[in-house]
Amino acid sequence: MHYQPQRDLLNDRIILVTGASDGIGKEAALTYARHGANLILLGRNEEKLRHVAQLINGEGRSAQWYTLDMTTCTPGECRQLAETIASTTPHLDGVLHNAGLLGDICPMSEQVPAVWDEVMQVNVNATFYLTQALLPLLLNAESGSLVFTSSSVGRQGRANWGAYATSKFATEGMMQVLAEEYQNRLRVNCINPGGTRTKMRANAFPTEDPQKLKTPADIMPLYLWLMGDDSRRKTGMSFDAQPGRKPGISQ
Ligand code: NDP
Repeated sequence: MHYQPQRDLLNDRIILVTGASDGIGKEAALTYARHGANLILLGRNEEKLRHVAQLINGEGRSAQWYTLDMTTCTPGECRQLAETIASTTPHLDGVLHNAGLLGDICPMSEQVPAVWDEVMQVNVNATFYLTQALLPLLLNAESGSLVFTSSSVGRQGRANWGAYATSKFATEGMMQVLAEEYQNRLRVNCINPGGTRTKMRANAFPTEDPQKLKTPADIMPLYLWLMGDDSRRKTGMSFDAQPGRKPGISQ
């Protein structure tokens, strides 16, 4: 995507990022801070979150961080977390649902039910619990942006991507439902990052040369555009961070 954001695109906006400890989520949090935002970071690893928060402070922006293990979290814990955030933060200008789990890459007949459940819990259920809990804070913003993270296999099924693909179809559905429910009050969209050089990608395609992939930093223009005012009229849509890229392994 060719987008040249203003340096102050997100000045004083408050943005929450899930899975902010690593990969794309870490890069998105840092990029939002570099464009003026203050961050709320969620993840399951305290040490990694603290490190990201320090980097954000180094950019002159504030970062609060909270640990939440999305494999085990309940709706009540998510509501409690939202209340804690609300006690210091009047609104959220943006939420990036980025945390995700890959699960097993194998035929449906071999998908292990416990792993399937874990993928659905993180990618769908916990994402829904958090969304429900954070909606009031998003609706308090003048022009909130709710962004989900999808995948090419969330639009077109592919052999062996069982739980992950199914969870990403659910993500696209959740986005569409919310977009219609909150028309004119909140914009709700999906990003498909496309193959990106992260730990998850290396697990999915262990034989692929990572140097052939875009880095998280390369795909940030879309992440910025969807959080800033330039996308104010867009809702209910699923965007590609790497338009034109063919899904699958980089040859
Ligand atoms: P990474 O595995 O590098 O990062 C995933 C992030 O999610 C980490 O911060 C991780 O935390 C967090 N996370 C995982 N499980 C949990 C959990 N149970 N509770 C809380 N946090 C958790 O993945 P990517 O950066 O590659 O992926 C980011 C998003 O992009 C995902 O939704 C993925 O599905 C999607 N995506 C990625 C593509 C790619 O090529 N990379 C392509 C298409 C979609 P921790 O640091 O503790 O592991």
